Amino acid sequence: IFISLEGPDGAGKTSVLQAILPEIQNMKREIVATREPGGVRVAEEIRQVILNPKNTEIDSKTELMLFAAARRLHMQEKILPALAAGKVVIVDRFIDSSVAYQGYGRELGVEVVDWLNNFATDGLKPDLTLYFDVDTDVALERIMNNRADEINRLDLERAEMHRKVRQGYLEIVAKSPERFVKIDASQPLNQVISDTLSVLKNRFSN
Ligand code: C5P
Ligand code: MG
Repeated sequence: IFISLEGPDGAGKTSVLQAILPEIQNMKREIVATREPGGVRVAEEIRQVILNPKNTEIDSKTELMLFAAARRLHMQEKILPALAAGKVVIVDRFIDSSVAYQGYGRELGVEVVDWLNNFATDGLKPDLTLYFDVDTDVALERIMNNRADEINRLDLERAEMHRKVRQGYLEIVAKSPERFVKIDASQPLNQVISDTLSVLKNRFSN
């Protein structure tokens, strides 16, 4: 079973994943938790390149292709072997992040991003995607409080980008409702964690 976690910055995906891991690890099947961009050595190196604020020459198209390259490496080396061995793979971000961030946020368009995603993954899609939906004001407030190092970034630009990304996610979810479960991530973290656990327990028990 292949599960991805998606959502705008500040939705709390990473904290939720960390909190639920001990709980789901004692369920029947072996779980592999991983993240994008990264997850394997060369993909982690690509992550460093993409996320380094000094690399200002990386434009949106370059960024899109770097994410796609990292995704392919991660899939080939880690995701596919784990799935083939019958494990449950939970990945923090996958194809939908590129559609939301580069397609909608950076306005490269959904078609080109879908095409490149398909090319990079040979069409692999998660069986289930948990979409952590968070209100932009709530998310920005969390980011300000929790990530002091990021406060310097232009707040207005950040808010604008966040709104576009969230709107993108909502459209992606509306287009393929069968793949997504939406979780209200504007709630307090504990509530988000228990909502997530109950969705997963439901799926695993069948
Ligand atoms: O998942 P995480 O928050 O660690 O992602 C790292 C950063 O990469 C985020 O700030 C996110 O905005 C950005 N990102 C992106 N495009 C993607 C995936 C992530 O801009 N396709
Ligand atoms: Mg995160």
